[in-house]
Amino acid sequence: MTMTFPAIGKPSADQMAVKPNLDYEKTHGNFQWAEMYAELDWLPGGWLNKAHEAIDRHANGSRRDKVAMIWEGKNGEQETYTFGQMKTLTNRFANVLKSLGIQKGDRVFLFMDRLPELYIAFFGILKVGAIAGPLFSAFGPDPVKDRLQDSGAKVLITQPDLRRRITGIIPELFELEHIVVVNKDDRDPQPRDPADLDYVEEMAKASADFDIVETSQFDYSIMHYTSGTTGKPKGAVHRHQAAVQHYATGKWVLDLHEDDIYWCTADPGWVTGTSYGMMAPWTNGVTQLIYEGGFRASAWYEMIQKHKVTVWYTAPTAIRMLMRAGDEVPKRYDLSSLRYMNSVGEPLNPEAVVWGVTVFGMPFHDNWWQTETGAILCANYPGMEVRPGSMGRPIPGIELGIVDDDYQQVGPDVDGNLVVRPGWPSMFHTYWNNTEMYNSKFRGGWYVTGDRARVDKDGYFWFQGRADDVINTAGHLVGPFEVESALIEHPAVAEAGVIGKPDPIAMEVVKAFVALNEGFEATTELRNEITRFSREKLSAAIAPREIEFVSSLPKTRSGKIMRRLLKARELGLPEGDTSGLEEE
Ligand code: AMP
Repeated sequence: MTMTFPAIGKPSADQMAVKPNLDYEKTHGNFQWAEMYAELDWLPGGWLNKAHEAIDRHANGSRRDKVAMIWEGKNGEQETYTFGQMKTLTNRFANVLKSLGIQKGDRVFLFMDRLPELYIAFFGILKVGAIAGPLFSAFGPDPVKDRLQDSGAKVLITQPDLRRRITGIIPELFELEHIVVVNKDDRDPQPRDPADLDYVEEMAKASADFDIVETSQFDYSIMHYTSGTTGKPKGAVHRHQAAVQHYATGKWVLDLHEDDIYWCTADPGWVTGTSYGMMAPWTNGVTQLIYEGGFRASAWYEMIQKHKVTVWYTAPTAIRMLMRAGDEVPKRYDLSSLRYMNSVGEPLNPEAVVWGVTVFGMPFHDNWWQTETGAILCANYPGMEVRPGSMGRPIPGIELGIVDDDYQQVGPDVDGNLVVRPGWPSMFHTYWNNTEMYNSKFRGGWYVTGDRARVDKDGYFWFQGRADDVINTAGHLVGPFEVESALIEHPAVAEAGVIGKPDPIAMEVVKAFVALNEGFEATTELRNEITRFSREKLSAAIAPREIEFVSSLPKTRSGKIMRRLLKARELGLPEGDTSGLEEE
């Protein structure tokens, strides 16, 4: 039986003691992005730099002594940094990079846990005009190698344990010139590789004064790798001008106000962790909490209570895990500071929206965007009726459409491809080294997102699924090709086909079908060993949760593994058109 959920009406004036920044009905009509660009600070000569917008402009003004970052370490350590201190530290790091010969346009990558030094280094990179590439710290050596090789990164900033994890790939990184190691509070007792640089030593030598390198709004600033159906992950490159949309959506969608304490639970290894775990709060001059620790329901509630979090941005898998932990746990904490809650990354099931009302007295507001869009494009705003299960309506200045496979728009309530009219400020500008793939995303005057959705007659968008084989597990996009490539490196594996299998918590888990080479037997030990092997290479977040041995895989006549068919068989669905299928 499908449950229906009533819309959650507009909040009353009492419920909204803080007036929302955006009234959907009033603002949507004749909005021009120029209005928002005018609100940015800009640099003399018309230059624009994200680090100036997020840090220096506050440090140079009335927010100099306002706390920018409250950091809580995984062992309970606590540190705070004002905008003024962030300016000095990011200047120092920019000078470190300058002394290493880093210039405008060079790629500098970060492979770190959520430590304050990650945030300091990130903005130092932007100040020197380089392109920052943050990597998810749970990655194994393979994903790190692919990304550093493709981007041609010159400097890597990392921490001792992660540095050891990737020792084997360093000789294959021909363009990498320096590794800077952050041994936070000397947590790691082992001696550093003498070829590496020590963050503390380098920072101590660096001056606290730095003139931001001249960057225009069109210069590249950040790149995030994202997975597709075929090939290795592609580096989506963003420009400094994306700052305007981070600023605007921070104000409109997250509803950030001057006195807020904001917490974004996403890791900067993924785009939400930079656009909304750095740029949106700080371009708005808002204090944010960074929590180094991982997920634990009680620890998360404690963070909200202890730091009096007012605005919270999290993800459906985490919300479902909180739901599973039970309604008694939140009752042990004072969560009354919370004013507004948002969610992104996967479909937010209506039950989770409604659970928010039951437990916190307010719904989770779902919004939609992706790595390539750089910022939120569609959202349930404050001050607008929430329709549980819908990802809301386009933000001002954004045109979304639903089109058929010929890129013709379809009417309300009809499934189709979700597309965006190009030209929004935070739009990616290329895939690194892959212009052809970039161009292929623009069709019929639209940017094609790869998602399928429909729109109702009131303009609310409803996500239906991916149009391709990309897997969304716990909000992380996983390219099946990347996993298949790792699996076939195991000597026992002849071929592998990877799909997303529905899961009540993570939405999908990665499932691999594996055919073995001759001489290998399909035993539990072998399955465990292949699992271990793929986890070490990739990361537990990407490696298959389930492996099924099969005698062969269904392939097209041209030899391509038919993942669609594997999925249909797994789900017990009709197999569809199998005319292109090779004899099995
Ligand atoms: P990423 O590029 O890794 O941020 O992943 C973006 C993809 O996650 C989108 O293309 C969607 O498939 C999915 N996604 C993001 N937000 C939502 C949402 N609110 N509802 C449903 N799917 C979402």
